[in-house]
Amino acid sequence: MRRVGVLALQGDFEAHKRALERAGAAAVEVRSAAELDAVAGLVLPGGESTTVLKLLELENLFEPLRRFGLEKPIFGTCAGAILLAKEVLRPAQKSLALMDVKIERNAYGRQLDSRVVRLSELEAVFIRAPIIRGVGPGVRVLATYLDTPVLVEEGRHLAATFHPELTADVRVHRLFLEKLR
Ligand code: GLN
Repeated sequence: MRRVGVLALQGDFEAHKRALERAGAAAVEVRSAAELDAVAGLVLPGGESTTVLKLLELENLFEPLRRFGLEKPIFGTCAGAILLAKEVLRPAQKSLALMDVKIERNAYGRQLDSRVVRLSELEAVFIRAPIIRGVGPGVRVLATYLDTPVLVEEGRHLAATFHPELTADVRVHRLFLEKLR
């Protein structure tokens, strides 16, 4: 298994590293373009997408990351999914635009800030989660919650609005690892 990177600028990258290792991969933290060059795929963890965007620009990583995604698989969770989406709503925000997805930030509202729900086949932890409001024809919806997509794939990329790294189930990480073969 080739090495998988986890963007480690902000957010819950430690939990993703552990989940990738539980799923059988060798995971490394990525903070520079050189480290990005050394991995076969990358996880964009949850956190605060505005902060991650600022840090990406500060570290001159935005463009290298976008180019990486044109060739190699990226898995974005929550804030990471926001970064992958082509269109970000409320408020509009710059993104890598690597997936044909329209996504609204903090969309469940304050009273439903964080929760754990049972989807038909997996448990999902939502933390100030976005909602996917639309997907293009090339996007496959793999799981939904309240009639909106929460796990989607498009070609080599995968995005979840919840946090699979916070449950013991490693199937979603395994699904991503399959894209690296
Ligand atoms: N609310 C965050 C954002 O808009 C995402 C939350 C998360 O990653 N858990 O960036």
